[in-house]
Amino acid sequence: MLLAIVATLFDHSILSYQWIVAGIVLGSILGALIAMRAKMTAIPQVVALFNGLGGGASLAVAVANGISDPAVAALSAGLNGLTIILAIALTTLIGAITLIGSLVAFAKLQALLPGKPIGFTGLNVVSGLLLVLALVAVYQFTTTAAVPWLMVVLACSVCLGLLLVLPIGGADMPVVIALLNAYSGLAVACTGFIMNNTLLIIVGSLVGASGLILTKIMCVAMNRSLTHVLFAVMGETTETTTVGADAIYEGKVKSTSAEEVAMLLEAASHVVVVPGFGMAMAQAQHAVREMACAIEANGTNVDYAIHPVAGRMPGHMNVLLAEAEVPYEKLMEMDTINPQFPQVDVAIVIGANDVTNPMAREDKNSPIYGMPILNVDKAKTVIVIKRSLSPGFAGLPNPLFAKDNTLMLFGDAKQSVTAITTALAS
Ligand code: NDP
Repeated sequence: MLLAIVATLFDHSILSYQWIVAGIVLGSILGALIAMRAKMTAIPQVVALFNGLGGGASLAVAVANGISDPAVAALSAGLNGLTIILAIALTTLIGAITLIGSLVAFAKLQALLPGKPIGFTGLNVVSGLLLVLALVAVYQFTTTAAVPWLMVVLACSVCLGLLLVLPIGGADMPVVIALLNAYSGLAVACTGFIMNNTLLIIVGSLVGASGLILTKIMCVAMNRSLTHVLFAVMGETTETTTVGADAIYEGKVKSTSAEEVAMLLEAASHVVVVPGFGMAMAQAQHAVREMACAIEANGTNVDYAIHPVAGRMPGHMNVLLAEAEVPYEKLMEMDTINPQFPQVDVAIVIGANDVTNPMAREDKNSPIYGMPILNVDKAKTVIVIKRSLSPGFAGLPNPLFAKDNTLMLFGDAKQSVTAITTALAS
């Protein structure tokens, strides 16, 4: 995309050589700094921000073209002109939705805004009306090239960007990020029509298509329809959990020690490690590998159960465990490992929460109802390693922690896992 933009800037003599170099240097420094400083756990926010910048760049190109005389000239240039002016209107629409939606997603994931859905009754009606108004304005701008209509498109899209992402929360955020990624690609492809640049059209279409495929894959993995993610009626998705945390946990949570866990592991023949966001937070992947080696030294089989949305980005757990050189064939996908859990002696849940929450299976009122989970509660014994009874990303209590076969090992994932390895060695 950089090549395509630079080539276009040169080709049309839009900017002088010095400005192009200055832009590349400044952008590269900023991009490299942001990417190097970002923690692994903050990758979804960074992806959201970069998606937003892609949308913003396309938006800037569209508005700059739309408010300048070439727009009128393009309109008078027949069918080709019509394509350009329609592309200006559509890029403004998609680019602004992408920019604002991504900024809201960033703010939610960075905890600058509450992660919970924010909205009001009738939000979908307002969004629908705004979309209709935006499309009318797109038509009007395309036929008249009157700048005020482009401003109407811009204003509607900014509001739509806000209304699209604010009501989405909890476990649905990954899907929205994938969708915004697709939108940023579509915006770039439309920009290619404005600038008559085939490379931008191809690159944008690739990003758009792969983003849509990723969105579809994530919807399937979470058993969510895209319509439900985007248009779940407010009130349907908030505060609907009937049972509170106190009622679930009171008097039922049993804590354990690293020594007791080591004894259980020594007696086990099949152990499954279930990693989640907390393992990433604690950077415990190397310690987990060492613990697994210590367990295996005893002749025990150790596997890893990988949930598609464990952690904070698709493939998060795979990346961390690969970094710790865990053999790839040990990583079991959800559909492979779930039928095996009843025969598993010990399941060790390390900083995972939502992806093991049985509410998704059992509580029809729960906002995560229907999301496939790792059925760790079916294992003979479950060890949950986390620092407290705090909820995970979706903000829900987890009845797994109160089950008869569950023992809680409270503490930081890395320290707790290292303590288990030490106990196994001694
Ligand atoms: P969760 O967010 O549900 O839970 C993580 C748990 O880790 C918390 O309950 C926390 O408990 C614990 N934890 C945090 N720090 C530590 C630490 N240092 N040591 C030990 N434990 C720690 O994680 P899951 O992986 O189960 O689920 C992922 C969630 O994120 C899902 O809801 C998913 O939809 C969402 N999501 C996923 C994305 C993806 O693409 N994978 C992208 C964006 C969101 P405590 O504070 O008590 O320690």
